[in-house]
Amino acid sequence: MNKTVKKIIVTGGAGFIGSCLVRQLIRESQYEVLVYDALTYAGTLTSLKDVLSSPRLTFVQGEIQDTAKIADLFASYQPDIIMNLAAESHVDRSIEGPARFVETNILGTFALLDASLKYFRTLTEAKKSNFRFHHISTDEVFGSLGAEGFFREETAYDPRSPYSSSKAASDHLVMAWFHTYGLPVLLTNCSNNYGPYQFPEKLIPLVTLNALDGKELPIYGDGSNIRDWLYVEDHAKALVAVVERGTPGGTYVIGGNQERTNLQVVHEICAVLDEISPNSSGSSYLDQIVFVTDRPGHDARYAIDAGKIKSELGWQPVETFRSGLMRTIQWYLNNEWWWGPLRKDVYGGERLGIKP
Ligand code: NAD
Repeated sequence: MNKTVKKIIVTGGAGFIGSCLVRQLIRESQYEVLVYDALTYAGTLTSLKDVLSSPRLTFVQGEIQDTAKIADLFASYQPDIIMNLAAESHVDRSIEGPARFVETNILGTFALLDASLKYFRTLTEAKKSNFRFHHISTDEVFGSLGAEGFFREETAYDPRSPYSSSKAASDHLVMAWFHTYGLPVLLTNCSNNYGPYQFPEKLIPLVTLNALDGKELPIYGDGSNIRDWLYVEDHAKALVAVVERGTPGGTYVIGGNQERTNLQVVHEICAVLDEISPNSSGSSYLDQIVFVTDRPGHDARYAIDAGKIKSELGWQPVETFRSGLMRTIQWYLNNEWWWGPLRKDVYGGERLGIKP
């Protein structure tokens, strides 16, 4: 085996973004990858099916809060890089059950940082200079924008939901471990992702699958809330660029420059489905739209100025929202084997997040 091959631990690597990153690392690089994942409702090894047989991929099941297990893992695997994507990620679930968000997102990140620093201190100077702890976060930590303006690296944190505040807390811990202890960290804050293998609780897969099932397409409030959308493969490429070439202690905001209201997103999904998988009754999927009670504390608008990652690291997205949406919907049409069991046994599409 080539001794210079770097080893990466990807926590949350059986989730939506994590599995995309792992597929990319196995297919397009020489890294050895260890996925560490608790396999909660949101994580499944079926998302790694295409790469699981690779001799460069190892899977270990465990919680990021399990300090002893992580310390043993670091000592035995000897990673060069930790990429932390393990998290509770759904805002509506955070409204119903915030405790798990505090445990995983805050205490889990703390446990990983603590174990990483202890491990880092055992490394030679050469290995220390290459070591990176990359924490993957969200633009939701910045709060809500009005009609104008963009989130940038300098934007002050102003989280509003239990999810975004737990992510904000974890981001602060990560930066503290850089400034106080000299752990070489990287932090990225990305806008809304979409693409294959996204758990069908999130807007785009939920609406796509409900439409195909003849069910209602729920729009929170009046549907005017605006999000910036980034195709997941573009996000994974950005993460690789940051972990390989980003400046330790640096933060990078990542976005697709594709702002849409939620209502526009649902209209575009219906338009794509009407074109490529029309309803047998001849009616448009638009007829299934219903307006439902808004999400409590629903942020009005998120938008990203991704100028820093573009100028410093040369990254920019490949997909537009329309091209990425077409790829995504085609994937869901062709891959019922993946989402069918999840819709049947794990989450059937019922409304979440209206009761505390
Ligand atoms: P996801 O919910 O699809 O996957 C999360 C993964 O983490 C799952 O595989 C789950 O099993 C695992 N996990 C959960 N708790 C764990 C624990 N305690 N220990 C170990 N593993 C655990 O999430 P995602 O959408 O892939 O998001 C990944 C990361 O990216 C998260 O940190 C999220 O905050 C961030 N992010 C997501 C988006 C988005 O639009 N999805 C946007 C920006 C940032």
